[in-house]
Amino acid sequence: MCPICILMNPLPFLGETRPLPGINIESMATISTSPRRLGNYVAGEWATGSGKQTDLFHAVTGDKVAEASTNGIDYSAMVDHARLIGGPALRKLTFHERARRLKALAMYLMERKEAFYAVSAMTGATRADSWIDIEGGIGTLFAYSSRGRRELPDETFYIDGATEALSKGGQFVGRHICVPLEGVAIHINAFNFPVWGMLEKLAPTILAGVPAIVKPATLTSYLTEAVFRAMVESKILPEGSIQLLCGSAGTLLGHLDAQCAVAFTGSATTGQMLKQNKTIVSENVRFNQEADSLNFSMLGPDAGPGTEEFDLFVKEVAREMTVKAGQKCTAIRRTFVHESMMQDVMRALTTRLEGVKVGDPSVEGVRMGPLAGRTQVADVRKNAEAIGRVTERAYGTFDDFDVVGADRTKGAFFPPLLFYSNDPFHVVEPHDVEAFGPVNTVMPYKSVDEAIALAKRGRGSLVGSVFTADDKVARAMALGTAAHHGRLLFVNHQSAKESTGHGSPLPNLVHGGPGRAGGGEEMGGIRGVMHYMQRTALQGSPTTLSRIVHEYMPGAAQTAGARHPFQKFLEELEVGETLITGTRTITDADVVNFAALSGDKFYAHMDDDAARTSIFDKRVAHGYFIVSAAAGLFVDPAPGPVLANYGLEDLRFTKPVYIGDTIRVRLTVKQKTEKEDREGQIPQGVVHWDVEVSNQDREPVAVYTILTLVRKRG
Ligand code: NDP
Repeated sequence: MCPICILMNPLPFLGETRPLPGINIESMATISTSPRRLGNYVAGEWATGSGKQTDLFHAVTGDKVAEASTNGIDYSAMVDHARLIGGPALRKLTFHERARRLKALAMYLMERKEAFYAVSAMTGATRADSWIDIEGGIGTLFAYSSRGRRELPDETFYIDGATEALSKGGQFVGRHICVPLEGVAIHINAFNFPVWGMLEKLAPTILAGVPAIVKPATLTSYLTEAVFRAMVESKILPEGSIQLLCGSAGTLLGHLDAQCAVAFTGSATTGQMLKQNKTIVSENVRFNQEADSLNFSMLGPDAGPGTEEFDLFVKEVAREMTVKAGQKCTAIRRTFVHESMMQDVMRALTTRLEGVKVGDPSVEGVRMGPLAGRTQVADVRKNAEAIGRVTERAYGTFDDFDVVGADRTKGAFFPPLLFYSNDPFHVVEPHDVEAFGPVNTVMPYKSVDEAIALAKRGRGSLVGSVFTADDKVARAMALGTAAHHGRLLFVNHQSAKESTGHGSPLPNLVHGGPGRAGGGEEMGGIRGVMHYMQRTALQGSPTTLSRIVHEYMPGAAQTAGARHPFQKFLEELEVGETLITGTRTITDADVVNFAALSGDKFYAHMDDDAARTSIFDKRVAHGYFIVSAAAGLFVDPAPGPVLANYGLEDLRFTKPVYIGDTIRVRLTVKQKTEKEDREGQIPQGVVHWDVEVSNQDREPVAVYTILTLVRKRG
């Protein structure tokens, strides 16, 4: 019995009611036919589309595994549900609360991953391919959860950048904030990563506080749907945050407005068509596109046979051709090799490809599965033939290849094909036609400049990689091709062991590329969250803006408390609360003693003659002594809620402090952030204090922010 039957229809087959992890047996129990009809998750309910269904097939056996339709689905109700229920519920949560839900969701899905692997096998994925899709996707949720809690405030909005001074008197300033869009994000995904494609878009969207409607490519939507069911079943995300369409998106885009965003991954043709949708254009709906890409990999001229870089390169090119049967937007399509090494590289690549067994991924030893469907076989063949017409074939045949453990005529199998062209500047197809399968063209270059020119022929790509031990080559390729690429990877013997490889987009780095690659950008850490937020410039007095954003800014009103702020719990401290300390006059003994204690005997502090000819004219106190003396002025030594000094940021010494100068400190609560309660840990938060040390003439001599851990009253 096929795994989808086990997952989706357990009662008739298993004769028992023990649920498989991640699959809600109750919601499935009403479905009695196999293959099953996929659900759409619409306004909090599962609904199947009526009328004609699209049949979905097992990539290995060719058997029908599911059918999908969105006929009769009320798209307008979906958009309204997101706008009126999901959006407000998400916006009530702070970034930290949303981040914690992402983590809980990641853990929930991880516990059920084996069920998803079983469904993933039907897409033709090997275990390793599924790992990228399933655990890579769940890993993205973890990554965004962690970054959200570390890099975003425990607030519902984000302050972007520092205060902008806009006037001489300091009472008119500017500040940027980012708030969640109030519409819905539409996520349209390609067929190749049914899980990762969904989760890499959802993670930043949910963290931003924006609900989403997920529309996977119909071909492999049965896997997306299985994972989505688990997400709904978990009840971790607020109602209305996520909805699903398995099948055509119909008129969905027509219901959007300017508060909505579309993130599209797929072919350039579809992307361009959708970008021109009447509503997208007239409402100025944000549209992010990730499309085709003729990614390159280059072997540096230094990396001849026998070098580690040569071996690493050959391994990576062969791997990129065969992982996911080459159905990766980031896969290497064009391979650049110095003309003197063409024969060596092709011999080595051919040997590697000869070792790749194609067939049913469940059979021991099979390294490459089929494409996701038979329509893909026809598409890839058409495109590979176009490349083949202008190049020579170095490895592989269209029709004569072995398939292990499966019927080649029933499954969506396609052989690895390696082409080469000795005339890369006079052929178009290898730079222009994306065969979305195990297809690659090797091309020679004479100089690094030529390699740069070849890279640019892709007219904008997601990623390029350079295998070289010569950092001059790396620099020339980086600066020569960066404008045309979203990501560049440099591999040598030092980085290879830990490198994540050419084809892996990472949550902390941007994924996307200019031109042909769509001109979009996803992920990139917190940058990806901002794609779903509106950046707004606020202008006003520092007091007004401080009260709006809950962060003190210079020039804003300050309040003095009756008690020393170090004697207050986190809840008692107020943004703007200020302590003005007593004074201290800096003596020669202070400077000499600090030099002895720290070992810092820099001439400007210790040598009268040398200091006289320095920029200071005479000896100055150590900056770090001023910071230490400032702490001596503002710290209340008695035990209290302050637990520890946590760090110091943005330190600037703005004027020298001379022996005989008198300093004073102004310490102001700038910002407060609660920390997550952890078992065995005192409930606490972080307080950012704005510190200004000034001299007897009231001139600031040092400005910085210190961070302390402060106990919560609880
Ligand atoms: P398609 O462009 O055919 O489809 C992409 C998505 O668009 C699918 O979900 C599809 O749905 C949807 N779609 C198609 N027509 C419409 C419409 N009128 N309205 C709304 N949605 C629509 O691409 P493939 O799925 O075939 O993916 C392969 C391509 O995607 C490759 O060329 C590859 O380069 C690119 N790709 C890019 C990636 C990147 O990150 N840059 C990643 C992965 C793939 P349906 O399936 O129902 O037709």
